[in-house]
Amino acid sequence: MKRFTPDFYYETLEKISVSMLKQKQIKGLILDIDNTLVPPHTPICDARAKQFVENMQKDFKVCIVSNNIYERARRFAVSFPVDFVCDGNKPAKKPFRLALAKLQLEPQQVAVIGDQIFTDVWGAKRMGMLSVLVEPICSEEGKFIKLKRIFEKMVYNKPKQ
Ligand SMILES: [Mg+2]
Repeated sequence: MKRFTPDFYYETLEKISVSMLKQKQIKGLILDIDNTLVPPHTPICDARAKQFVENMQKDFKVCIVSNNIYERARRFAVSFPVDFVCDGNKPAKKPFRLALAKLQLEPQQVAVIGDQIFTDVWGAKRMGMLSVLVEPICSEEGKFIKLKRIFEKMVYNKPKQ
């Protein structure tokens, strides 16, 4: 199903191609936190996430959009610092619109990077943004997310790498 099919899929954040993003005229990135940048329940930004975001900041404006609460998103975002939108309710359009306003970019100039099809990928597609799916960092997830993973498998087959 097209609306659930990411434009690009990478096994890890580090494999995301900067030249591909530039080729697609991308100027800004919207990043998910949980299971994209850090494992869920990791209270602060770790070295790996910090390095990834700082690398990306060399070429792109960055904004975090999380469905998690204010305190979680804020604590994370201040380590760079980058702008953030919390309580996002992705795939709703509102958090993405807020992020676009912060980035001062148009939807077609922005890529959404996240680990979930029904929040990050679908949300990006609804906005007309480029969608980049990454493998979740940690496979131990809550019951609700586990259920969503089953549905994800039904709508999108990850390419074998
Ligand atoms: Mg996530």
